[in-house]
Amino acid sequence: MGLRPNLLTRRTAGVASTTLALLLSTAAVGVVPAASAFSAAPVGGCVEPADVHSDARVKAGAHAKHEPNELTAAQVREREADLAAAQAERARFRAGAGVAPLATVTIPVVVHVIQRDSTRAGGNIPDSMITQQISVLNQAYSGATGGAPTAFSFQLQKINRVTNPSWYPIISGSSAERSMKTTLREGGKNTLNMYLGELSDGLLGWATFPKRKLDSMDGVVVLSESLPGGTATNYNQGDTGTHEIGHWLNLYHTFQGGCSGSGDSVDDTAAEASPAYQCPTGRDTCTAPGLDPITNFMDYTYDSCMYQFTSGQASRMLTAWNAYRAA
Ligand SMILES: [Zn+2]
Repeated sequence: MGLRPNLLTRRTAGVASTTLALLLSTAAVGVVPAASAFSAAPVGGCVEPADVHSDARVKAGAHAKHEPNELTAAQVREREADLAAAQAERARFRAGAGVAPLATVTIPVVVHVIQRDSTRAGGNIPDSMITQQISVLNQAYSGATGGAPTAFSFQLQKINRVTNPSWYPIISGSSAERSMKTTLREGGKNTLNMYLGELSDGLLGWATFPKRKLDSMDGVVVLSESLPGGTATNYNQGDTGTHEIGHWLNLYHTFQGGCSGSGDSVDDTAAEASPAYQCPTGRDTCTAPGLDPITNFMDYTYDSCMYQFTSGQASRMLTAWNAYRAA
């Protein structure tokens, strides 16, 4: 436990940290519309699971009530049923087409930098932070920082800079978020669209889970200063991106479901009653075997504390890719 290994490149990236107030955006944004992300309508005649934003990653000290969409047990059941149905549907398609499921995947990444103006405080982060973010993703998903390797690698396709004060900050669940994504999203279901900017409510990021039909809301939203070398103290090594993309690839939080039931639907992540923050030692919140998985990318700990996915998570992500995002 503790600091993750093999982070020399990430450490050197962690310069320029200032004391960005953890609740800065909460204070700056004011009233945020009630989350509307559960309002999915059936698409194309087949009922999709609720269009939940995966629960956003929040800074320690931010108010839990500001997490936009904690998944309920019913929502998890709905998503798991949909995954099974999507798997069966794709298996039939592949059998007919004589196509094997993918074992490795390179994900094209389109990065949208949302800016209020041309200043750094207005969202104008340098390209170097974005290329370092891609490097962090490739390290994390290859298993280079610890844990299991996954099937995924990431290839930066484009940086799209957009100056639009009405989209800044990006407000979770707002009509402005919908407008932004509808206007900017590129590519098919296999293209990762990342939206970077200042965020509402002290959030570090949020993401959408995969769906069977392409949805213009699909993608991840990440606090721009959480990228490597950003000013978000303790959250500036790029693991908000790692975490949110985990959701985009169908992972739940390690604390999903608490100590009971199937938890996060992954067998080799120990059950955890609630999110862990900072980097606690010996945390063990469930009677089931195993300490809390505080070093897992899908918990809420500091970037310096989280460094791994499990093989169960790697398997779940690849299964979901072949069910939802593969061509
Ligand atoms: Zn999350």
